[in-house]
Amino acid sequence: MKNNTMRQTMIDAINDYYDRLESNDSPKTYIPATTENYEFIKELSIPKAGRNLEEMVNVLHDDVFPYRIDGEHPRSLAFVPSPVSDVSKLGDIITTLYNPNAAGWFSAPIVAQIHQELIRWFCGRVGYGESSGGVFVSGGSLANLTCIIAARNDKLPIDEIHKGVAYVSEQAHHSVNKALRMIGIPDTRIRKVETDENMRMIPESLDALVQEDKKSGLIPFVAIATSGTTNAGTIDPLEDLSRICKKHNLWFHVDGAFGASILASDTNKRLLKGIEEADSVIWDAHKWLYQTYTCAVALVKNQQTLLNSFSDNPSYLKDAASGQVQSWDLGPELSRSALGVKLWLTMQVLGTDTFAKNIDYSVGMAKKMESIVLNTKNWEIVTHASLGMLTFAYRDSRFSDEQMDKFHSSICNSITNDGIATVLTTEIHGRKVVRICTISPDVTVEDLELTMSELNKRMQSLIA
Ligand SMILES: *Cc1c(COP(=O)(O)O)cnc(C)c1O
Repeated sequence: MKNNTMRQTMIDAINDYYDRLESNDSPKTYIPATTENYEFIKELSIPKAGRNLEEMVNVLHDDVFPYRIDGEHPRSLAFVPSPVSDVSKLGDIITTLYNPNAAGWFSAPIVAQIHQELIRWFCGRVGYGESSGGVFVSGGSLANLTCIIAARNDKLPIDEIHKGVAYVSEQAHHSVNKALRMIGIPDTRIRKVETDENMRMIPESLDALVQEDKKSGLIPFVAIATSGTTNAGTIDPLEDLSRICKKHNLWFHVDGAFGASILASDTNKRLLKGIEEADSVIWDAHKWLYQTYTCAVALVKNQQTLLNSFSDNPSYLKDAASGQVQSWDLGPELSRSALGVKLWLTMQVLGTDTFAKNIDYSVGMAKKMESIVLNTKNWEIVTHASLGMLTFAYRDSRFSDEQMDKFHSSICNSITNDGIATVLTTEIHGRKVVRICTISPDVTVEDLELTMSELNKRMQSLIA
C-alpha cells in the first residue's frame, strides 16, 4: 500500500488545497450544490474495478468539497461552523498518518498521556478538583449522552427507570433530549423548565417542578443547564440551579458544548461562575477551540461515576489493561482516533494565551455588531451579545408577524446562498430573528458592517 507515488500524491494534495485557496480572491462563504453535482457523483457509483488515484483526488478537490458551508470564512456568521486553526489541521493529518488507536494506554501510551494532560487542563479550567476526570469523544452529542448515562447510573436505581424525571429548559440543545430518550426517559418525563425574558432557566420553577414530581412518586434525577445556548448564547444561572439540584439530590449537568470555551479566558471565565459545582460538563473543541471535526470532551466532577457506568473488564482486554484508567472504561467507545493530539499540538504552538485572546476578541465583536445593528434604522436587538452571539430583527408594524418571519428567512437565505455571508435565522419568543455568531478570530468590523448593510438592503427591497 505504500510507495513513492502515493507519498507524492499526498504532498500534492496538500499543495493543491492551498493553491486553490490562495488563487481564490473572493472566496464564498457557501457554494450550494446543483442537480448536476449530485448526478455526477451518482454516475460514478461504487465501481467494481478501481479508478485512477490522481483523477479521483481531483474529484474530491473539484466536485465534492467546494460544496459546503465554509466555516473558516470570517463571514461564516451562522452558528455553528467553526473557525479552524491550520495547526489543528496539521495535527489531524499527522495523527491520520500514524493512525494510533486511542482506546487505551497499551495501544498508544504517549497519546494516552497527552489525552490525560488535556483532560487535566479542561478540568482545571472548569474548576474541578483532583477526583475529576473525563474522556474525549467525537462531539457534544456523544458527550451529553456520556454524562447523562453517568447521571442515570448515579442517581436513578436501574429498576426504577420508569419513574425517572429529567429537567431541561426549552432552550436546551436537541441532543440532550435525544440522549435522555436513549437512556430510557421518554418525552413525557422530560420537564421543560420555564425561562425568564432573557431565556434563562428559572431556578424557582425547577424547584417547584421537582417538588411536584416527588409528590407524585416520581424520581427526579437530573437537571441540565446550558451555557451558552445554541439559539442566543444565553447562560443559565448555574449557581442557583446547582443549589436546587443539591437540595433535591439531582445530578447537575452543564451543556457547555459551545460556551464552555469562555473558560479559557481569564477575563471572561467569571461568566460561567458556578460551573465548578456541576456534576458533569461537556465542552466541544471543534466549536470554539479552533479544532477540526471531531473533538469534544465529557467531564465529570468525580471520575468514579464514569467508571461505574462504563468499566466492564472483558477477558480479551485484560492483557492491555495494566492497572491504569483506560479511555475505554470512561465512555461508550473503544477504538477511536487520537482526537486530542491536534488540540495538544495547537496549544503547544499557539499557547493558551492565544486562545484566550481570540475568544475575548470574539466576545467584543458581538458587542460591536450590536452597535452596528442599533445604528441601522428599524432594526432592533432581540437578545444581547452573549458569548460572541446575538440576535436581532427588523420591525415594521405594516406587516403581520407571519410576513415578517418570511422576510427574515428570505434575507438570510439570500445572503447565504449568494455566498456573501453565512447567516441563519432562529426563533426567539416565537418570532423569526437573525442570529449572528462572531467566533471567527478573523472577522473584522468591515465584515460585520458589510453583512448588516447586505441584510438591510435585502429587507428594504422586500418591504418596498
Ligand atoms: C453544538 C451543540 C451540541 C451538539 O454538539 P455536536 O458536537 O454538534 O454533537 C450540544 N449542545 C450545544 C449547546 C451545542 O451548541
